[in-house]
Amino acid sequence: MKSRLVSETLIMIECIFTIDYEIYGNGEGSLKELVYEPAEKLKAIFEKWNARFVPFIEVAELEMIDSKATDPAIDLVKHQIRDFYREGFELGLHLHPQWYKAKYEDEIWILDYSEYNLCTLPRERIVQIVDRSIEYLREVLGVADFMPFSFRAGNWLFQPTRTAASVLAERGIKVDSSVFKGGLQHQKKLDYRRANRNGYYWRFTDDVNMSEPHGALLELPIYTQMVQTLKMLTGKRVSSQRKSFSTFQSNRQRLIRLLDFLRFWYPLKLDFCCMGIEELTSMMDRVIKEDQKNPTSYKPVVAIGHTKELYDFETVEAFLSYLERKGIAVSTFEDVYDRCVTVPGFNVQGS
Ligand SMILES: [Zn+2]
Repeated sequence: MKSRLVSETLIMIECIFTIDYEIYGNGEGSLKELVYEPAEKLKAIFEKWNARFVPFIEVAELEMIDSKATDPAIDLVKHQIRDFYREGFELGLHLHPQWYKAKYEDEIWILDYSEYNLCTLPRERIVQIVDRSIEYLREVLGVADFMPFSFRAGNWLFQPTRTAASVLAERGIKVDSSVFKGGLQHQKKLDYRRANRNGYYWRFTDDVNMSEPHGALLELPIYTQMVQTLKMLTGKRVSSQRKSFSTFQSNRQRLIRLLDFLRFWYPLKLDFCCMGIEELTSMMDRVIKEDQKNPTSYKPVVAIGHTKELYDFETVEAFLSYLERKGIAVSTFEDVYDRCVTVPGFNVQGS
């Protein structure tokens, strides 16, 4: 129980910082600049605040880069993953399966996009990929029985859910954090609009959008608020959107992606790398207002970031300082799990 009394009010909100630890996209760029260095700075800040974040380690690309020795910083990265583990950071499993059958030719990675969505692969292939990724993490850590507590799918794609969820649950993974409520990507067949009905967390088995009281996994979604599209167009975010639009191959694909983006209402993720301090705090202010209206429900709020987009460390510190002032604890999935699934009086849907 980490809730704190602030001015005689019990705050039922906790914040879980997650960071996707990867070079996403086509694998271009240096591990040192895009993964190791930003993660090292973030780690130092959190240690100073005596707090922990959850690095979601994208195992497939790291294993492939390691096996072909294509980036000399892979050893620094492996060392850093061991440091995280030793220093009490909870390591999550993140997977972009298109890496496992990738080829490295003329100093360029050619990824296998037929394996882009883990969930659409046959069960045997999902088992192979998940087991291989966990085995690599065990080797890196030198811990034979290591099991990640949480999972996040590549490109947030955890649909169709059933087979992949059962494989992960059978292995001992407890939490998924792939969903962002209101999410819609036509081209990738991602649709998280139905999850809008759910609370701050829920259990599921067959469909990650649907709450089931005794579901195999617990969903702790990346926190979003629906905002008018025009409000999304701030400087920091526009530059990252432009980058991702430009990696698309055809005009048709670009158009479909643009249509997703041009909905009137758009889910804005609580992203501590892409947002400025005013946006971060105004989003949390809304959660605090909800907490005042509904003070008995527990509200774990998951923030996201990417090592590749992390350069504004001042904002991260200012946000940590804001959370402390408001009495909002910084937690991990392991910290909040028991309270989400077992504490009597807390509804399994979290609202
Ligand atoms: Zn990723």
